[in-house]
Amino acid sequence: MVLGATAAIVLSDLDGWWPLDLRDRPGALTPWRLRLLAADEKSCLATLRRSGIAPLTVSQRPLVNGCGYTDGVAPAAFALALDKPPVMRCALAATYAAWERHVVQPAAKRRLGSEVREISHFGAYSCRDIRGRPGRRSQHATANAIDISGFTLANGRQLTLSRDWKDDGAEGRFLREIRDGACGLFVGVLSPDWNAAHADHFHLDMGRFGVCR
Ligand SMILES: [Zn+2]
Repeated sequence: MVLGATAAIVLSDLDGWWPLDLRDRPGALTPWRLRLLAADEKSCLATLRRSGIAPLTVSQRPLVNGCGYTDGVAPAAFALALDKPPVMRCALAATYAAWERHVVQPAAKRRLGSEVREISHFGAYSCRDIRGRPGRRSQHATANAIDISGFTLANGRQLTLSRDWKDDGAEGRFLREIRDGACGLFVGVLSPDWNAAHADHFHLDMGRFGVCR
């Protein structure tokens, strides 16, 4: 038993030694490796392709007035179980893919007895300031954040953040578990616990400020 536990720790600590594949279970170094992708567009695109996220369109919008992106990707919506295709910075798309696969799907199966078929979102890129902070660009302005609003399960059941966040049963526990799981992968995670402006969505970003609420 002790030997098994030791081996598991060593293996997860070695996950930086081979190419990152988002289909593999995240290890201790995965969050750090996901952040490195933000500085290396080529290796980020290679990671998405290696991980089977296709078809994938590369997208650019020159930075003007604090809005735009140079390393945007527009993966097919179905490749990421999204209801519509967003444009995201590559590292955000990679982190989202890891969250969907290793946090959302296992939690849905365990707590709700069904896979998630589709994840609804309010968008990723949006040239705007942080709400209530004029002059301070949101992570959305550089396609570095996505707002998740709800989930449709394979059995047809639908969950929304606005209705089910405070639910005492399996739905609420599922939503709170995947928020906590997001905190282990993304840099910034804001849920309905943060403020009224986030009552109906998870804000997930790869910005500079670590927050989990
Ligand atoms: Zn947001």
